[in-house]
This record gives sequence, C-alpha cells and structure tokens, in this order.
Amino acid sequence: MVKLEYIKKQYPRTRRVHGNWYLSSYQYKFNVKRINQCLEHLRKGELVGLKCRSCNTVSFPPRLICPKCLKMPDQWVHLRETATVATFSGTYAKESGDTEPRPYPVVAIRQDGADTSWLANLPEGYDFFKVYVGMPLKIKWAEDKKGDFSDIEYYEPIEDPSIEMNKKEETEN
Ligand SMILES: [Zn+2]
Repeated sequence: MVKLEYIKKQYPRTRRVHGNWYLSSYQYKFNVKRINQCLEHLRKGELVGLKCRSCNTVSFPPRLICPKCLKMPDQWVHLRETATVATFSGTYAKESGDTEPRPYPVVAIRQDGADTSWLANLPEGYDFFKVYVGMPLKIKWAEDKKGDFSDIEYYEPIEDPSIEMNKKEETEN
C-alpha cells in the first residue's frame, strides 16, 4: 500500500456515541431561483459569482448569505475559467486496474476572482502525488451543457509559470 509520508501523528479515539442518525429524515429548503442567473451562465460556458456589496467577498459557487458578514449579496460578477487548488486530501480506494488501494486526490479549489472554495474534480485517475496547494487549473466544460454544476466536467491542471521561475532562480544561484 502506498503510504503518505507526512502523516506522523495518530490521534486516539476520544469519544464514542452510540445511536443512529437518520440523514434521510432531514429536509432542506433551497430556493434555486436565486442562483438561476449563475446556472444560465453555466449553460453558455460562462462563470459568475455573487459579490457582497458590504465586504466585497465574492462567492463561487454563489452563496445566498455572505460567509464573511452574513449580508445578502446581490451583485453578479464574471469570473475567469482558471482556478487554483486551495487545499487537498487523499482518499484510499481500489479502482479497476489497481492491484492495491492507492490515494485518490480530493481537492478544494478556489476560482480565480472568488474568495470561497469548493470541492471539484480533477481529470479521472489523476496522480495524488502530483497535486499541490496553489496548483493552477482550468475548467474542462462538458460537451452537452445542462445549466447546472455538472457543466463543469472537471478542472484540468495547466502549466505553472512559478515552477519555471523557481528553476531559473536555482540555476542562477
Ligand atoms: Zn459580506
């Protein structure tokens, strides 16, 4: 099994709660009308986020309540197709073709121009050990757009200019 090198500490189990949690009995109300504008743009292959006039925080995907100052943002702003990896983790799985479980990346990305992050897909089977915080990405749009978030098929890693700059610095020194 491929071991992650940076996991050094094992935390003891501190508390155990017995019982069941009936998740399916919970009901959520979500008024999709308020993000219709975002969905319509997705259908056209465009991105818009919601900007809060009070604190200038831009959320993508749009949040109906500002995560910073709790006001209701109402200003739509266009965003670029590029994003960066904000943080990531690995989940061990054995996909077809794997002889033993290996880590698959689970990434939270931040769309360029937005202040919030969300979970998104990298290309299928992307090597966990190639992922890093700050890795630049670009949207790969779905062929048939439906006007929902599945129109973003995945985020494709793109060339990172900072790597070339670091290399240049190393050779100069
Ligand atoms: Zn705000």
